[in-house]
Amino acid sequence: MTIAAPVSGKCAAHPDVAAEWACQRCGTFVCTQCERRTRPEAPPLCPKCWDLRNKTVQDTVAKESRRLQIGGLVIGFLSFLHPLVMVGSLILNIRELRRGTGGDARWMNTAGLVLTGLAMLTWVIVIAVLASR
Ligand SMILES: [Zn+2]
Ligand SMILES: [Zn+2]
Repeated sequence: MTIAAPVSGKCAAHPDVAAEWACQRCGTFVCTQCERRTRPEAPPLCPKCWDLRNKTVQDTVAKESRRLQIGGLVIGFLSFLHPLVMVGSLILNIRELRRGTGGDARWMNTAGLVLTGLAMLTWVIVIAVLASR
């Protein structure tokens, strides 16, 4: 869905240059030099909306990361309840640590892994005790 700018439009940043497109988001006229696209076939954005979009994407990644970190810590605790949870906890925490987008809060995933390790030990002991009866 590309909105072509009227032929008479000029680029908002370059008054001498004819606009090729209107920004998909705010409608600002942009020339080929000013247009920004995620993919060659994607509708163009003006530089301002492009910056805004990038910031939003980063925020989303950070938020998602935080959710996975808290989730990793919680699932680390839950590992004590059922052995199967440990598998999920290991996968989630290791994957999040390897992604490396966590920043300061990465300790949550490390803590989640430590908890999972403790849970594993607990389960090994429990199973050993049960098996020896
Ligand atoms: Zn725009
Ligand atoms: Zn321009």
